[in-house]
Amino acid sequence: LNPSAGLLIGLDVGRRRVRLAIANVAHEIIATGMADIPAGADAPAQAEAAVRLVRRVGEEHGIRLGALEAIGLGLVGIVDDPSLPAGAVPARHAPVARRLAEEFGVRVAVDNNARLAALAESTWGAARSVGDLVYVRWSVGVGGGFVVGGRLLRGAHGAAGEIGHVSLDPEGPPCHCGGRGCLERRIGSQALLEVCAARGIALTGLDALVAAAQDRVPGVCEVISAAAADLGRILADTVVQLDPERVVVGGEFASLGSLVLDPIRQAIDGLALPKIGRRIGVTPADLGVNASAMGAIAFLLNEEPAIPGHLRP
Ligand SMILES: [Zn+2]
Repeated sequence: LNPSAGLLIGLDVGRRRVRLAIANVAHEIIATGMADIPAGADAPAQAEAAVRLVRRVGEEHGIRLGALEAIGLGLVGIVDDPSLPAGAVPARHAPVARRLAEEFGVRVAVDNNARLAALAESTWGAARSVGDLVYVRWSVGVGGGFVVGGRLLRGAHGAAGEIGHVSLDPEGPPCHCGGRGCLERRIGSQALLEVCAARGIALTGLDALVAAAQDRVPGVCEVISAAAADLGRILADTVVQLDPERVVVGGEFASLGSLVLDPIRQAIDGLALPKIGRRIGVTPADLGVNASAMGAIAFLLNEEPAIPGHLRP
């Protein structure tokens, strides 16, 4: 094998930062990197940040980008639109995908970044060799992905795995998705910061919230474990219907270990189908912050050429 041939790039363009992974022909990750995105950046600005990151990391590691074969791109939100012909990229995502395709002269395959993290965990991480997986990423928002029979489930409209938008309360507060009382609206970091503030605990953001829980700040652990129980109830419903081998919990909250995982395990163990519930492993994700970028590479390795969401230069 010539390790400089056949490079693949995975990019994860999030709300606040873009992350990069580069794999060689042997499917080994040979470089990773990260860059912040200014708050409120539009798609063209996100695309420029991604291009600059690829160029910078390539130079730092002496990687010849002429050997690049394809780019996998993870984006926030629903990535697909059944009204578009196969091969088209949904308009909302086109600027980022098109800019990357033009800059590097390769095809760009797009999918949701939480779903790609699920694929990465089943390829390299906490669910290696697990054929049926439910993955949830609990962070600022709540995303997820299902691997069924070894394949990432995309859904008819690109929305498979959107656990965060299961409604807990049809009369609840409105959600950015257009629904009401969504799980994300109750347990996303912003909602939990508001609950803490109402109890007189002022915290600046997600990182401060997780750090306060690690420091066992009174009140914070109770808020987070109650939120984990809410998540566990939704995951238990999901498990009854999908019967996975494993549930993997990723995102910043998963780093809190038993505080988060125990309420989820209890909810699944207490299932109406107890023989199934007790056999399902609940484990933290393995791959950390680069999971989605790595999943974008796994997506390129597993993809079917006719899948919607692909852009060819
Ligand atoms: Zn929602």
